[in-house]
Amino acid sequence: MAKVVETTLRGPEAYGLARRVLDEMEAAGVWPTPVNFELWLHHLGEPEGPLGQEIRRILAAGEPFTEAVSDMLAAEYLPRGRLSEEIRDAGRVLDRELTSVATAIAKAHKNQSEYGQVLAGASADMEGAASPESLRTVVDGLATATRKVQKQNADLEKRLDASTREVARLREHLEQVRRDAMTDALTNLANRKAFDEHLEACVEAAHRDGRDLVLAVVDIDHFKRFNDTWGHQTGDQVIRYVASVLGRLARTPRMAARYGGEEFAVIFPNEDSATVEAALEDVRTEIASRSLRRRSTDDELGAVTISAGHARLARGETAAALLGRADEALYASKHGGRNRVTCAESAQRAAA
Ligand code: C2E
Repeated sequence: MAKVVETTLRGPEAYGLARRVLDEMEAAGVWPTPVNFELWLHHLGEPEGPLGQEIRRILAAGEPFTEAVSDMLAAEYLPRGRLSEEIRDAGRVLDRELTSVATAIAKAHKNQSEYGQVLAGASADMEGAASPESLRTVVDGLATATRKVQKQNADLEKRLDASTREVARLREHLEQVRRDAMTDALTNLANRKAFDEHLEACVEAAHRDGRDLVLAVVDIDHFKRFNDTWGHQTGDQVIRYVASVLGRLARTPRMAARYGGEEFAVIFPNEDSATVEAALEDVRTEIASRSLRRRSTDDELGAVTISAGHARLARGETAAALLGRADEALYASKHGGRNRVTCAESAQRAAA
């Protein structure tokens, strides 16, 4: 996470910083969108931080700084700040609701004890009532006090209902915020942060329960060529296409995520390598079987192919080590000519 830059700076320095951000973005050929501005602000604050390094890597590799890339970086490096702001807002609303409910309950207590006193007084008055008139006065007084307390109870109930609704709305909103922070905007798959957390949890569960777990990494072949030939918008469509096929494959408890620009990862809990291999082969052939068209010109883009690698969790293995082996299997697919699936364990056995 990048060091927090003084983004709320007020005063002449704020203009200086903003100008530096704009100059550097212009020099790098990056559009001054709000997201890019925020990314660059953090990048300047800590050029050696993970965000700074990733931005430098992208620029050095000559990779285009598309909207999709900005969204990915923002999701990876900026969400916590935004999320915590939303959570702070929600906390404030919750605080207000709780105070209001606490006040209403305190008031209800007071009303009830007043009503108790009225009842006690009425009981004493009744005992001493000498005539039907004085009895009627006592009963009238009681009826008035009862109506008052009934109305107060109804008001309290209304207040509690409103609070319950507000808290439910808040919960839904927070759930949406949480989902957004975990979702890749271009593909609607899980983002890398969500994936990393889920993989850690799955690895832990698989070790604990002694169950199988297979991890696959998938990469679009020659993606840069697509981008360079047809433009970034078409490149983004290709990513969406592959994501849509992977998304169909990865119904719960499987999980597919966009792991990097054109790289995806899929977690297969409780499945063995043979089943995963067959599932990935289906995806590979499905993707390669369709010829895409460029929407703006209807040009034929040709077939998109993917390379994949998968590895089965070994005893005591960490998530990072599993990911490393799945990555190696992916590279074996790339080196073997692309448009193929490699199983890490089979490759290892073949090499032995
Ligand atoms: P999208 O453009 O948002 O389309 C979502 C879904 O709507 C597609 O899912 C498909 O089921 C349907 N759809 C949209 N346009 C057409 C169409 O012209 N003909 C037919 N038969 N169905 C259509 P699908 O196929 O899984 O694609 C997911 C995403 O992949 C699309 O999102 C788009 O971003 C990309 N994509 C898929 N095929 C192509 C293509 O031939 N050209 C381009 N440029 N992008 C494509």
